[in-house]
Amino acid sequence: MSDAPAPLFPLFADLRGRRVLVVGGGAVARRKLEPLLAAGARVRLGAPWLDPSVAALVQAGRIEHLAGEFSPDWLDGAWLVVAATDDAAVNQAVATAAEARQVWANVVDDLALSSYQSPARIERGPLQIAISSGGGAPMLARHLREKLETELDDSIGALAALLLRERARIRVRHPRLTERRRFFDALLAGPVAERFRAGDAAGAQAAFEAALAEVPPSRDRGSVALVGAGPGDPGLLTLRALRLLNQADVILHDRLVSPGVLALARRDADFIEVGKQAANHHVSQDGIHALMLEHARAGRRVVRLKGGDPFVFGRGGEELEFLHAHGIAFEVVPGVTAALACAAYAGVPLTHRDHAQSVRFVTAHARDSLDTLDWRALAQEKQTLAVYMGVAGLEAFRDRLLAHGRAPATPFALIENGSCPEQRVLTGRLADLPDLARHFEVQSPALLILGEVAALATTLHWFGTPPLTTPPTEIREIRGQSAFMVA
Ligand code: SAH
Repeated sequence: MSDAPAPLFPLFADLRGRRVLVVGGGAVARRKLEPLLAAGARVRLGAPWLDPSVAALVQAGRIEHLAGEFSPDWLDGAWLVVAATDDAAVNQAVATAAEARQVWANVVDDLALSSYQSPARIERGPLQIAISSGGGAPMLARHLREKLETELDDSIGALAALLLRERARIRVRHPRLTERRRFFDALLAGPVAERFRAGDAAGAQAAFEAALAEVPPSRDRGSVALVGAGPGDPGLLTLRALRLLNQADVILHDRLVSPGVLALARRDADFIEVGKQAANHHVSQDGIHALMLEHARAGRRVVRLKGGDPFVFGRGGEELEFLHAHGIAFEVVPGVTAALACAAYAGVPLTHRDHAQSVRFVTAHARDSLDTLDWRALAQEKQTLAVYMGVAGLEAFRDRLLAHGRAPATPFALIENGSCPEQRVLTGRLADLPDLARHFEVQSPALLILGEVAALATTLHWFGTPPLTTPPTEIREIRGQSAFMVA
């Protein structure tokens, strides 16, 4: 019993033939007995009196009865104990005695006294889903359970039973883990699951036999999927991306990929952070190529996971050319690119019949890249620029646009951490862009949207905090003040 907010450790226990003590003989204890007996536990029930339904179980020889008041030696030989009395002192005594003997104890409806809790459960044959809210909100766990109950039909239980029954044969047929995983993936997506859903158990077994007899294609060939992870909000992942993340053996991801997205991937995949901005280790583009090659050649399923979309300023093209040149199989899954996500989450329609008939995606990360841009075209009105850039370059960017004739009053929206909980949107006029960004200390990643449409953020914002904006005169005042205070 600890007050630390650490998560509970989930565990499915094999109770067959193991002794479990239940203290209490009323209706509450009765409800706790059924799942224990179903799991094959040897149940002893201690209580001075018994509810008739409990007495019936004793008479039928399904449980053993210890008559009288609780005594710690009732715990002898027990692996688990459930205290289900309506007497707080007895429940406390059971919990204390169990703790002293290192026996897991559940005190019904008493979180503080319990060293384990019973989860809300969904059962489909050998498949079980257990849900815990950490004890804080059993109603939430129950609500989720109801949702899942309706979503999982009985066929999933039949499928789980088949897999359990055939486990040894599958292992013999596919001794290597990677092959076995592939076999399972094909099985679950294919006719076996489909036959079970149709209620055709014999057909499912036949389909399973056929799958087991099949020679797996291209045994040692790995592959690379270039997958767009979107801008941060995991809800913006595609279903295809989610599926590949759950099948991956190795995930090579950029630093920009959000932890929320990574949390949805297969837990026992190898996660390797790569990319130029990786925190501790700098992995060059050649290094990334080498890693993809090494793992794919070892027969692994590699997901190369990139922020946003892999083909928008993501060097995805180069990576595919490399894979193509080395004969590695690949596929590409698009992602929601920062421009689309930031526009949506800032309430800025990129095109608008009144304000912009076209939109350009521009990158201006390096100083030299500014020289190669077509500034006259960029400075034209009635178009939207979505600029992928570091915040350090804002001043040079503004100066060039103004020099080529874009109006100083052109509205902008600068979106920092678009779609993430910490998103901030800064709005103002092009002329004030670098000053405002400096004032509010905007950090990367940030995306600039420039054009008449950006003004709409002020009215159409819906996500996170309202846009920040300060007239330039006030900035000057604020600066003056701090200078004064420092002096
Ligand atoms: N392939 C990515 C872009 C990579 S370039 C995509 O399609 O989105 C990196 C730049 O993208 C950053 O400097 C920033 O300008 C922009 N960016 C990426 N994620 C962002 C986010 N969540 N919020 C704001 N800008 C973002």
